[in-house]
Amino acid sequence: MKALAVFCGSSKGASPIYIQEAKKFGEELVKRNISLVYGGSSVGIMGAVADSVLAGGGHVTGVMPDFLDKREVTHRNLTNLIIVDTMHERKAKMADLSDGFIALPGGAGTLEEFFEIFTWAQLGLHQKPLGILNINHYYDPLVALFNHMTTENFLDEKYRSMAIVNDNPGELLDQFAAYTPPSVKTYLHEDQT
Ligand code: AMP
Repeated sequence: MKALAVFCGSSKGASPIYIQEAKKFGEELVKRNISLVYGGSSVGIMGAVADSVLAGGGHVTGVMPDFLDKREVTHRNLTNLIIVDTMHERKAKMADLSDGFIALPGGAGTLEEFFEIFTWAQLGLHQKPLGILNINHYYDPLVALFNHMTTENFLDEKYRSMAIVNDNPGELLDQFAAYTPPSVKTYLHEDQT
């Protein structure tokens, strides 16, 4: 695994633990010689991960849409900054450059990015691992929702298990290295064919 896309908040979160753990995650990437691909901002959890990888001598690529470049406080000291025209191009570029995807705590933007990649994996549009670094149990309610979706037969266990959840960066990255993608989603059950 050479490069990972990280989706995370442009906010810092309510507790210092979010920034602390995001920095530890960045250190783990450097230790494993994995480059960071992210949204290119200098603020919030996004900035903390990027700064931590840069401080360790790692490689960071930011992908920023032009209109947000003027608003989102672009990080000016990245190894590589790519300016694109639209949000869609940003996500596509981040996906192209990465061998896997991790969500750290974040808001609606983070979830949107994560769920697009999750659904594309389900459809077999890519075979890369994806997961959640569950810092401070932030994503416990989402994990509970995944359970509910599976119990109610809206999310097959096979696809639900594609989203790897762990609160330990090293363990999560080990799980990524061992990941085997499931067969792609089908829409008809045997009794309907
Ligand atoms: P947030 O998690 O809301 O703090 O947003 C984190 C990142 O997601 C920021 O870089 C936002 O630009 C990005 N983002 C916000 N909304 C969207 C969206 N609809 N599609 C893709 N990225 C988004």
